Amino acid sequence: MHITMVKKQLLSGDPCRKCIEAEALLRSRGAWDRIDQVIWAVEGQPESEGMRLAEQHGMEAAPFFVVDAEGGPAVAYSSVLRLMRERLRPAVAEAKGDGGRPQVPSRAQSAPEDVQAAARALDGAEPQDVLRWVLARHGRDCALAFSGAEDVALIDMAHKSGLPFSVFCLDTGRLHPETYRFIEKVRQHYDLPIELVSPEAEPLRVFVQKKGLFSFYDDGHQECCGVRKVAPLRRTLARFKSWVTGQRRDQSPTRTDVPTLQLDPAFEGREGELWKLNPLAGWSSEQTWSYIRANGVPYNELHERGFASIGCEPCTRPTLPNQHEREGRWWWEEATRKECGLHTVHPAAS
Ligand code: SF4
Repeated sequence: MHITMVKKQLLSGDPCRKCIEAEALLRSRGAWDRIDQVIWAVEGQPESEGMRLAEQHGMEAAPFFVVDAEGGPAVAYSSVLRLMRERLRPAVAEAKGDGGRPQVPSRAQSAPEDVQAAARALDGAEPQDVLRWVLARHGRDCALAFSGAEDVALIDMAHKSGLPFSVFCLDTGRLHPETYRFIEKVRQHYDLPIELVSPEAEPLRVFVQKKGLFSFYDDGHQECCGVRKVAPLRRTLARFKSWVTGQRRDQSPTRTDVPTLQLDPAFEGREGELWKLNPLAGWSSEQTWSYIRANGVPYNELHERGFASIGCEPCTRPTLPNQHEREGRWWWEEATRKECGLHTVHPAAS
């Protein structure tokens, strides 16, 4: 028997809420290992594999599941509960050996209480300690997401720890020339291989041909960020066990509850769960810049021209004194929508 789960990817690049809940349910019942394959139905892309499967099986909503059993036709299930009842329960009970409640799955999975305990222990810890904690566990399976801004402080800290780590940078193709020069400067300064992650050529070609190069000014940044940032990020994170971001609580109204550690609620890692660490969560902008200055860390020259937050060139502008730094991003949109889909949900340690 081969089971395919079809999840829906929203224009923002995030999975739909019901898909997240269905996966969480499967995991909590020890049945996630029984899902052989996950396929995405991408909103607005009828040619995506998941959309084609939905049409083929007459499914109108995601998630749904396609079960291929030997000798019989494929059967589609729109209900995860029915799938578990009819297809997964016997196998789960057999694994347990007593027909009772399911075992913990063999796939790597952390107990919520362990995650909560670690999150409590790390909350308030110095960023260097948080980094050492995760790098000692995951080494190169931990990736620092470098945005080309003041999160360079994390690269400096990781470098000084002497522990192995990986670094990637989402190259949307729309970054400032100054940012590209800065990435190269950091690469040379630390003698560090920085992986530049590009959008997939075909979805980008389809998007640009259909919407042009500046559609975000008319209908919002989610679709463009979905193609240029979120999908490449999803592809990249699938190779790692954990990732580290430069998010801070003082950056914007959308980041006031950023935890130091959480299980990523939106992306999956190589072994399913993905640990997400935000070592700078509790630091202020002043603390971050004090570190950069005190340690002679190279920084993006755009900061000297009033750019507090740095992203893509068409979507970033300098901020005025006393403005939140994220006010320089997507300034034509509401403050509560100033996330690109990389960090949309922040439930602590969940
Ligand atoms: S920040 Fe702007 S240009 Fe960059 S991916 Fe998002 S919408 Fe596109």
